[in-house]
Amino acid sequence: MSSLANDNTVKGVNDDQIQPFQLNETDFRGRIVRLNGVLNDILGSHDYPVPVAQLLAEGLALTSLLANMLKFEGIFTLQASGEGPVKALVCDMTSEGEIRGYASYDEEAMMRVDHNDSLSLETLMGKGYLAFTVDQKMVDRYQGIVELKDVSLLQSVQHYFEQSEQIKTVMKVAVEKNEKEGASTEWKAGAVMLQKLPEETKIQLVDKDDWTRSRVLLESCTDKELFDRDLPLNDLLYRLFHEEGVVVFPPQDLKHVCRCSEERVLNVIKTLSDEDLDYSTTTSGEIEMKCEFCSRLYVFKRDELNQDEPDLIH
Ligand SMILES: [Zn+2]
Repeated sequence: MSSLANDNTVKGVNDDQIQPFQLNETDFRGRIVRLNGVLNDILGSHDYPVPVAQLLAEGLALTSLLANMLKFEGIFTLQASGEGPVKALVCDMTSEGEIRGYASYDEEAMMRVDHNDSLSLETLMGKGYLAFTVDQKMVDRYQGIVELKDVSLLQSVQHYFEQSEQIKTVMKVAVEKNEKEGASTEWKAGAVMLQKLPEETKIQLVDKDDWTRSRVLLESCTDKELFDRDLPLNDLLYRLFHEEGVVVFPPQDLKHVCRCSEERVLNVIKTLSDEDLDYSTTTSGEIEMKCEFCSRLYVFKRDELNQDEPDLIH
């Protein structure tokens, strides 16, 4: 833990990095993240319509902040399912910083939606649920669920903490798309959150006004600041919270890693009915399964499936 002083000039763009922090003399803990290469890797392996990519980017940024709270080895999963054009959104991250995500949507329904940048969560996903799952060694599996009824994913997450967990939470997320001529689309995302830890964890040194003031300071963070690759996250934190005093903890690097494998895909195939298997079998007798997260294609020979060790063709 190191204190941020005025002369602190930590250089580096902090791309794909989460920086945890705490405000001095309070029990307010926060995290700030900037996603770049990892986000473009994930979105680049799919061809999502812009509003779907944008929703997934927001989901990944929020997931990284929440997963950074894991205290033991484990996996955090954010999963939303709805009845709207976007049927599912799944993001997960391990305690090692390995993050991945995908969205599944109905192409026709998506085409009927007016494509602009301000589609609400309600328009995209309709009625549905948002679930948080924590699988950690040494701790029982935990799942929290909240109804999707807000205009954004961010608001749903914030409401979950405030209502279900009684933890005061303020968050901000920003996603930006840059279209360069002749080059592929470049995405950026940034997010920051601040939480007031449950009361019993520390002697109360703060009153209600402190939370309100800190919340306003966090909300003053602009999208431009979250994206600015020339502005180190530590400098941004100092800019936002220097009056409160802010200390930082070791940052965590993010990596895009998919945990799919032949074995896992095979286990899924084994659960399919004959009818489903017929549907997935090509005319040349092969079963193709694509990983929804990373789009990697797995191909097995149908007639070898019942053997103990089927051959993977490629
Ligand atoms: Zn995969």
